[in-house]
Amino acid sequence: MQTFSTKAQLKAALLKHHRKHDHVVLVPTMGALHDGHRALLEQARKLAGEDGVVVASIFVNPIQFNNSSDLQTYPRTPEKDLEVCEGAGVDYVFSPSPEEMYSGERSITVEESFLSATLCGASRPGHFSGVCTVLAKLFNLVQPTDAIFGKKDYQQLAIIRHMVRDLDFPVHIHGAEIVRHGNGLAYSSRNARLTAEQKEQAVVIRKAMLQARDEFRAGTDVRTVKEHAAAMIGAVPGTRIDYLEIVDAETMQPLEENRNPALMAAAGTVIALAVSIPGMSWATDKIQALTGSDLTLKVSTGQTVALCAGALAIALAVIALVSVSTAQRGIRRIE
Ligand code: AMP
Repeated sequence: MQTFSTKAQLKAALLKHHRKHDHVVLVPTMGALHDGHRALLEQARKLAGEDGVVVASIFVNPIQFNNSSDLQTYPRTPEKDLEVCEGAGVDYVFSPSPEEMYSGERSITVEESFLSATLCGASRPGHFSGVCTVLAKLFNLVQPTDAIFGKKDYQQLAIIRHMVRDLDFPVHIHGAEIVRHGNGLAYSSRNARLTAEQKEQAVVIRKAMLQARDEFRAGTDVRTVKEHAAAMIGAVPGTRIDYLEIVDAETMQPLEENRNPALMAAAGTVIALAVSIPGMSWATDKIQALTGSDLTLKVSTGQTVALCAGALAIALAVIALVSVSTAQRGIRRIE
């Protein structure tokens, strides 16, 4: 495994692989690697095969943070990260400084204007523009044949697919399943900021989302589903819901009615919830229920939602997505 901190080193190493038309599989990360990242890296290794190469980028991208204290306190574990990459069979680690990545005179950003309007996009202004911009740069630098992203960041994955489609990046995007702790909490770099108690409290979000999913499937109207989920969350002292939406899985636009759950399954539906608990660090949580009984839960943490809600410097926010997917399309759906 080789580690590079400059674009020039990375490009020089990749040149021979591009000349041979090797599979080049990219896994972009912000480091503080955990078992969720490890699964993506291992999937990349399999996809690349023996002859292909796996590139992991480790870069805490400053322009996707709209909160400077979140950026400053973002967990960083550079030594462990290299061990995880090595263990997963990564060939090249690209770990640039912000100065190496961005010109001080940077004047271009990549902006997704439709899917980013809701949920995390609405709560964290500028976040997805920062994500799209850094990924456009990474795609240009690495020129991967494939790139893997976690379904834990469901809205992000959908936006990346749109960016690749709309800007004609010649890269195949893969969505990887969410990896969780035994209690259902998804692995997340920001979980390092949560106390054990806070992690336990976050489980209520999963329960509320499962209840919402079941009610929605049973045909309960959207408003009632949302009210019941809100009540369950609200029973945990100090919680505040930032948003609670039932949205189309592809457009991320809120649904008003649950007229025909079966029909909506065909169209694709997601339940999304954001909660703040004052006094805690912010967290996002997404639950995705696969077809049948395969249940998944996403949790990551940060501070942006609480700040955007104009409230507290520190809070816990949980975003939950419940959906059921059709395996062929890899898009999560409720049925
Ligand atoms: P991050 O370092 O948080 O930017 O995440 C890098 C990539 O890993 C993204 O595509 C995430 O969706 C993915 N990821 C993070 N945590 C998990 C997890 N628990 N399960 C699956 N994928 C994950």
